[in-house]
Amino acid sequence: MSAEAVRVPVKTVVVRLHEIHEGGLTLTLEVDPGGWNLEGNGLVIDGWVSLRLQFIRQGVEVSVFGSVSAEGWVECSLCLARHKIPLSSEVDAWFVPASGGIRSREGFDPFLYRREAIVLDELITGQLLLAVPMRSLCRPDCLGLCPQCGEDRNQVSCGCSTEDSMVQTQLRELKGRFNGQSKT
Ligand SMILES: [Zn+2]
Ligand SMILES: [Zn+2]
Repeated sequence: MSAEAVRVPVKTVVVRLHEIHEGGLTLTLEVDPGGWNLEGNGLVIDGWVSLRLQFIRQGVEVSVFGSVSAEGWVECSLCLARHKIPLSSEVDAWFVPASGGIRSREGFDPFLYRREAIVLDELITGQLLLAVPMRSLCRPDCLGLCPQCGEDRNQVSCGCSTEDSMVQTQLRELKGRFNGQSKT
């Protein structure tokens, strides 16, 4: 977060078409993510979302470049514990009026705007979700959940057989399925 950025405690980020002049428009904002429901996607934003966006207008078409970044709490891929990671993604999008305009560019669809109001919420939340890695660990040596009893092995040593790894369990289940019976 830089000192010059303006903080906006609003739920919707809107740029009006007439605000984008010939030289383009640069938007540097810190936005309160409170109004966006990202938790359904397993993401909780910590603090503010930083926007560094450049708008370029060609007629009624508006291209948007820049970055969206924030810090977010995501679940560990192994033990499910929430941990905070930096999220950042590059923006390369475009908006056309809902009433008309080119509908696809190199296979990518544009965002639509109505009444000269370019609403950025969908773009921003999409970029944040895009920034969440497929796999994230709470710590490099996370021990994960016990495949037998489900305990978090970072917290407790449950005493289950340590030889019985997740892979072995899965192999046994697979073998059981092939044999038409479950072996123990
Ligand atoms: Zn973990
Ligand atoms: Zn266990």
